[in-house]
Amino acid sequence: MTAGDPDVLVIGAGPAGALAAALLSQRGHRVLVLERERFPRFSIGESLLANTTQLLDEAGMLDAVLAAGFQYKNGASFVWGQQLSEFNFADKTAPGCSFTFQVKRADFDHILAREAARYGAEVRHQVEIVSFIPGDERPTVGARAAGGDIELYRPRFVLDASGFGRVLPRLLGLDKPSAFPERAALFGHVRDGIPAGTFDRQKIRIGVHPVHRDVWSWLIPFSDGTSSLGVVAAREHHQRHQGSPAERLRAMVQDEPELETLVGTASPTRPIGEITGYAANVSTLSGPGFALLGNAAEFLDPVFSSGVTIAFQSAKLATLVLDRQLRGESVDWDRDFGAPLRFGVETFRTFVNAWYDGSLLDVIFSPDKEPHIHRLICSVLAGYAWDAKNPYAGPNSARRLRALAALCRST
Ligand code: FAD
Repeated sequence: MTAGDPDVLVIGAGPAGALAAALLSQRGHRVLVLERERFPRFSIGESLLANTTQLLDEAGMLDAVLAAGFQYKNGASFVWGQQLSEFNFADKTAPGCSFTFQVKRADFDHILAREAARYGAEVRHQVEIVSFIPGDERPTVGARAAGGDIELYRPRFVLDASGFGRVLPRLLGLDKPSAFPERAALFGHVRDGIPAGTFDRQKIRIGVHPVHRDVWSWLIPFSDGTSSLGVVAAREHHQRHQGSPAERLRAMVQDEPELETLVGTASPTRPIGEITGYAANVSTLSGPGFALLGNAAEFLDPVFSSGVTIAFQSAKLATLVLDRQLRGESVDWDRDFGAPLRFGVETFRTFVNAWYDGSLLDVIFSPDKEPHIHRLICSVLAGYAWDAKNPYAGPNSARRLRALAALCRST
């Protein structure tokens, strides 16, 4: 069966897909989004960065997000034993929004998908992409609807925003192993029971294990008295704890006494989840008739909450190129999309590597912070990783961060 052919077919209605669909619809292109799940549906990835607010605003989707009453977020707190290091996004050096939100993704993603539809995209749920034939003219997409029928589409271009579904990397053999070691996260939503006024709910709390500095926890408060709670560690560390996911999460919280004090009496509001080996990479970000957005391309690590920011940024960059292509201009996907996207992804990669080798912890917990450097680091943590004026962003970020860490250690 052959269905109507849109200009652009977007796989997945998560953050990358919804933002891309809205932006292309606003430019007059006919967009069809095919999403496997019925919304609202749970997703991990609940703490956003200030740059996401900026990108939502540019896409005309911020009002809808503001109206939902999500927990306001203005920065991040890092805690290691008795040491506390705070970053207030308002201190960032890059221009743009300095606040963001902590969101239940079921609600957030649902709002974004509805916004994409409001701007004119057709969003169909419970349709799964099962096949793909690339092609510069019109690629062919096979989709299975709820009834089991396979529908074939021949859009002018396909954006794969299927996240951890990784549809085109799987179908086209583009998957490449990530250079990051395998880590796992245990997580859940809890009624946190934290007494009002005793804790800053406007920041994500990142806690560092007292002994194993590569083991860390997140506490992401929501606006309704619940929080997202999770612990990330290498697989070998997880194996030190036995029992059900809930028992193991409980034990890992107890390993971090300050966290235990904060949420020791918290009770889960949904089953504890576990996700392993989430880091992923691809051999190319684009090909004949397609480009990969967000997690469908690469996922680094959850520690700096960069996932939705990268998803949005990839959607913004791809739609700028695609709009030109659909209008008949000749474009170079690697030069105009891949290279600019990689600039910021490399920044986050530097920060993730430096987190796990401990050098960024030396910077974050340095007692002697130079205010301007603190602001530059804060800018990246706020999501402004594409700011070419920031010496800690882009391809030279690793060398500069190493030098900074050495300086922090020597003072
Ligand atoms: P997704 O959000 O995964 O959306 C993809 C959509 O595609 C889904 O709705 C899916 O149903 C659909 N789909 C999949 N396969 C198909 C198919 N075959 N056909 C049709 N549709 C399909 N990020 C943050 O920004 N902040 C955080 O605090 C954070 N914490 C994290 C913690 C952990 C433990 C992990 C693993 C990740 C975390 N992330 C975080 C990352 C975040 O979850 C992702 O980066 C983000 O959701 C990526 O958005 P996306 O639009 O690319 O994909």
